[in-house]
Parts: sequence; C-alpha cells; structure tokens
Amino acid sequence: MEIEDLLDSYIARLPKVELHLHLEGSVRPETLLELTQARSGLRQRAEEWIAARRASNYRYGNFREFLEAFKLVSLLIETPRDYALVTTRLIEWLASQNVRYAEIIFAAGVVLWKKQSVDEIFDAVSNAAEEAESRTRVRVKWIFDAIRHFDVEHACEVLNAAARLRSRGVVGFGIGGDEARGPAKLFVEVFQEARNLGLHGVAHAGEACGPESIRDAVELLGAERIGHGLTVLQNPNVVSMLCERRIPLEVCPSSNVCTGLIARWEDHPLPKFLDAGLAVTLNSDDPAMFGTSLEEEIRRAARCFAFHPKTLAQLCRNAIQASFLSADEKRTLEMELENT
Ligand SMILES: [Zn+2]
Repeated sequence: MEIEDLLDSYIARLPKVELHLHLEGSVRPETLLELTQARSGLRQRAEEWIAARRASNYRYGNFREFLEAFKLVSLLIETPRDYALVTTRLIEWLASQNVRYAEIIFAAGVVLWKKQSVDEIFDAVSNAAEEAESRTRVRVKWIFDAIRHFDVEHACEVLNAAARLRSRGVVGFGIGGDEARGPAKLFVEVFQEARNLGLHGVAHAGEACGPESIRDAVELLGAERIGHGLTVLQNPNVVSMLCERRIPLEVCPSSNVCTGLIARWEDHPLPKFLDAGLAVTLNSDDPAMFGTSLEEEIRRAARCFAFHPKTLAQLCRNAIQASFLSADEKRTLEMELENT
C-alpha cells in the first residue's frame, strides 16, 4: 500500500469529534433534491442553488455572499419533516466518516426569522437525531445559534428556546453572522443569562473581524470556545490569553478559503496556531456549502501541511477535550483514539 493510502486509511479510522458544524450548511445536493422532489417551485430553486455551488467550485465572492447562500438554503428547508430529513442524512454522513460525537449548531435564529416555531421544528430534529443515533455510533448534542447582526431581543428569544429544550440535548448557546454589525458588547447580558441557565457559551469570532473581536468574545461574553479565530495571530496578547485560559479554537480551513477570507489552503495559519500552543480543533463548518467534510478537512490538512499522523491524532484529541462531554465520556473516546 502506498504511504498516501495508509494515511487515508488511518484518517478514515480515527474516531472523530466535530464541534463546529451547522445543520443547514450540511445539506448535500442529493439531500436537497430528496427534500424538494415533490415540490416543483422549490425543486427548481434547489437545482439552481446546487448548480451555482458547483459552477463556482464552492467559492463565494465575499463573506456577505456566503451568508446569502446560507439564507437561501435555509429557506429550502421548510417543514419540521424537512428538518428531520436533513438531520437524519447528516447523522448518516457523520457515521460514514467515523464521527463519534458532534455538537451541531442549529440556527434557531433563522427559524425565528422565518416566523416558524423553534419548539415544533426542534422536536422533529431531536426525534430524527435519536432515531439515527440508535442505528449508528454517532452521538450528537446541539448548540442554538442566534444571528448576531439582528437585535439583542432576537438573541434572547433564541436563548429562551435553548433553555426550554435543554432536556432534548441542547448544551450551548452561540452567536454567528456578521461580527462587524453585531459586536460582542451587545450580548454581555444574554451570555451571562445563558451561564445562569447552565448552558455553555460559544461565539464565532475573528472570522471576518480582527483579534479584538476574539478578545471581546472571551472577556465580555465568557465564550468557552471560539469559532474560527482566524485573525488571532495579529495580536500576540490575544494569543497568550487564549493559551493561558485554554480556550479552544474551532478552525475550519476550507470555510475560510471558500468565503474568501484567505486565498489558499496553504495560506491558512493552522500550523502557526499549533506552534503558538493554541488548542486547535479541526472542523468543517458548512461542509455541503464548501464541498468538504470533517474527514476531508483532516485529509487536506495532512496533505497541505505534511502533518504527521501524531499531529492528526492530537487534533482529534483536542476536539474530544474541547467538547462539552462529561469527563467519563471524554476518557472513553480518548481510549478509542489511542487504540486507532
Ligand atoms: Zn460557523
């Protein structure tokens, strides 16, 4: 067997943990077609959406354009049954990559924006997840995401829904969207309230904005993990703070390339993050929108940066440690990883 095949087989066998994965961004073309097969109007929009992704090779002109595409796909997922189907197909996909655990981001904020019932839709999602979990080795928990460029009242509504649905596997509350239009300082009280309710707080930060956005997410919001943190190296003080507090970064390289934040995979600061001692985890973000998967992200990182298998295992170990699993559950996965 060639070295590359050996590495691919090792990557396939790694027990994986994904911490930054949007449900709506995980709807692959085949699922989108399955979803819209009996609805002619939507079917055409789905086909156009898929054709646009393929024609542009999953690249977006800029970050706003990506947010628009995310909005469009969210509109194609209409009913609780639709949400259930995309959940089932996602968990089956995760199983095929030997993802053992995922904290999936559910855009409760988008559901509210569509004027739909979060409770009703999440009930369908959660039932579908339980059914798919019973057939696979995948376990999932949920993070409810508010749109940070909407108002604070919107974020409160998302938080209330997360609190109501905690018994259905919701473990966290987060914010995503346009950092510039929704700065962290607006959400201090919401995150405080999330903590009071026993929910973990996470935030997308330092994706399209500078390192001050990361610092604010940690210092003002108490974010326990940072989504992306792409710009962190621009400020050594923020790097030190993240290292000292052991705040993990949810790094998503293909996402950063496809949304145009960096030009090429080779330009991604991932190896420098590791050299700086940051707690790096590797994630796929919106895999169907970027033509990737968690397994593919690990493969690309291995090839692009010539990472040793030990580094790949370390990235997986970091994800286990950075998850919101219990100490016992983490130990079980770590043992499985050691035996890979
Ligand atoms: Zn994201």
